[in-house]
Amino acid sequence: MKLVKTLSAIGLALSAHLAHAQAWPERNLIWIVPFAAGGPTDGMARDIADRVAKQIGQTIIIENAAGAGGTIGATKASKANPDGYTFLVGHMGYMGAGPSLYKKLAYDPVKNFEAVFRFPDTPLVLLVGANSRFKSVAELIAEAKAKPDTINFGNAGVGSTSHLIAALFEAKAGINVQPVSYKGAAPAMNDLIGGQVDAMFDQSNTALPQVQGGRLRAIALTSLTPMPQQYPGVAPLADKVLPGFEAATWYGLYAPAGTPKDIVQKMHQAYMKALSDKAWTAKMSSMGIHLLSDAQYGPDAFAKHTASEVEKWRKVVADAKISID
Ligand code: ASP
Repeated sequence: MKLVKTLSAIGLALSAHLAHAQAWPERNLIWIVPFAAGGPTDGMARDIADRVAKQIGQTIIIENAAGAGGTIGATKASKANPDGYTFLVGHMGYMGAGPSLYKKLAYDPVKNFEAVFRFPDTPLVLLVGANSRFKSVAELIAEAKAKPDTINFGNAGVGSTSHLIAALFEAKAGINVQPVSYKGAAPAMNDLIGGQVDAMFDQSNTALPQVQGGRLRAIALTSLTPMPQQYPGVAPLADKVLPGFEAATWYGLYAPAGTPKDIVQKMHQAYMKALSDKAWTAKMSSMGIHLLSDAQYGPDAFAKHTASEVEKWRKVVADAKISID
């Protein structure tokens, strides 16, 4: 009798769980973006969210929870209810380098999250203001060597991609610049245009309209190969200046650990359907965004990628002595 009761209780719980998963999504989803609106993370997230929302038939609300290089938003997402309604847009900084940069991080990118899908990758460009005294990256390096700690580099926050790439650049070029942190790339870029900061690394796609509009100049690329379509005449850092230098930002969607696997699968399928729109992927390519193979976008590959990046950054942070204190 007792056994029958227990079994039927299990049956009830299971069918409630199944009904819940089958009915998903019954209401709006939230994607936490841990940077200011109008920046690269925000822009990519909104573009992808709109297309995934159409596939799942529900609105996806972008919540900008900016600060501390993305770790504030990531902490919030790690503590969210794993019910399939809250997600985190994560990137190389707080989900890759974070554990090596911060002594006390409130989350573990691998243990506290389910990887849902990976976005296409984006290389970066080194930018200066339209009227900057720097006509080339060689001039910038020469001045930084002559006057250490005087050139101001804007970044999207301590531990953000723009900060990490600038730190790598300093380490490889043997220079020291003065980092100036903002709550996202958008406010940093405003100050670069206004002349309050001297230089900044930003994603090639979001910088492009500013460069084409004559408000900023690109003086180097972080990709190994040139981007003649987007940045004609701009050489990669690896070309003569810093041989072997290569950096790109990766992004992706995460859910708090414990989110039902079938919801993760449904989100991934919706994303793959959105990606089958060739006009969209062609538009991303034309902005310099690197498309990946279908297998690389999936939850398993993205989970492995996250774990390997956490390990990779341990070495990079130690070798380049990147410190955020
Ligand atoms: N993704 C940018 C960075 O880490 C920040 C932003 O999107 O505003 O540099």
